[in-house]
Amino acid sequence: MDSDVIVVGGGVVGLTTAVTLAERGLRVRVWSRDPAGETTSAVAGALWWPYRIEPAEEAGAWALESLRVYGELAGAPEETGVRWVPGVHADTVLDGLGAWAARVAGLRQLPPGEVPGPYATGLAARLPLIDMPVHLAWLRDRLVAAGGVVERRAAGALAEPAAVAPVVVNCTGLGARELVPDGGLRPVRGQLVLVENPGIEEWFTAADAGAAETTYFFPQPGRLVLGGTAEEGAEGLVPDPVTAAGIVARCARIRPEIAGARVLGHRVGLRPARAGGVRIEAERLPGGARVVHHYGHGGAGVTVAWGCARRAAELVTG
Ligand SMILES: Cc1cc2nc3c(=O)[nH]c(=O)nc-3n(C[C@H](O)[C@H](O)[C@H](O)COP(=O)(O)OP(=O)(O)OC[C@H]3O[C@@H](n4cnc5c(N)ncnc54)[C@H](O)[C@@H]3O)c2cc1C
Repeated sequence: MDSDVIVVGGGVVGLTTAVTLAERGLRVRVWSRDPAGETTSAVAGALWWPYRIEPAEEAGAWALESLRVYGELAGAPEETGVRWVPGVHADTVLDGLGAWAARVAGLRQLPPGEVPGPYATGLAARLPLIDMPVHLAWLRDRLVAAGGVVERRAAGALAEPAAVAPVVVNCTGLGARELVPDGGLRPVRGQLVLVENPGIEEWFTAADAGAAETTYFFPQPGRLVLGGTAEEGAEGLVPDPVTAAGIVARCARIRPEIAGARVLGHRVGLRPARAGGVRIEAERLPGGARVVHHYGHGGAGVTVAWGCARRAAELVTG
């Protein structure tokens, strides 16, 4: 066996976990069915914020741990894709968030008159905004620098990677529905529109966690990302033009200049939501190999990636 661990899954969860393990001295190989650019992770907007993720208390702790790491990575934004960007979460109050919120420096309730749009409440913050195509490429490079290997390869069963390494980490996101199989996983479809940025430098969200239609925009290099949707149980990956028009119209209600922005493209991803929340758990396969399951990060896999990766790594090495 030339690997200590096979990480199945090359999205943000798999790559961050693989980096964490490789930098602890383990020989790590990642198997990814899809190229990084075709994962859900590549679609994400991606703002640091624990949205649509459970269990709430653990997610808050993982998010804070990740916030510290992203804060460091924001020191080299061109390479890592991570930047500190100010913005507003409309329709949100501090009291409605978990204990984690008190530990986010600078997060503050806005006076009603300062909240954009028709919202009575809102929070202002400066948070990590992550350019995912750049960040995924950077994670891969960091993994390779630590001796890891990434290959395009689909696992038809967990026994396949278990035949070539003593430990398997299952970071297959929604793919765990079939691979485990885990019937508790369900997709929450998200659609985005990418437009030329008409000069917006701050992010904005009005994204109630229970709503199917949300309103948000994130300024990324070379584009403004407009969202969004959260359609429970929907599987389709083809962008719907009516949905796209609705997204642009909702965002333009907050910043009218968005209405005339040239459309650069459309993105759709399926958030891996799971009954009971994120699964980070070790299990023995019939042949004796150990599997550490690490999937089900819902709408916040980027937000919690480093904290969760450390927890999963403890199960691998511990
Ligand atoms: C529109 C949208 C916006 C979002 N915005 C944000 C945001 O702002 N902030 C945030 O934190 N999160 C956001 N998310 C959520 C975030 O994208 C996900 O939680 C995260 O990407 C999940 O990462 P993952 O690595 O578990 O899954 P994925 O990125 O789906 O990766 C799964 C990997 O497993 C591989 N795989 C699957 N099955 C197999 C198999 N059998 N064999 C081999 N490989 C396999 C796939 O090829 C892939 O490499 C958003 C999601 C969407 C859809």
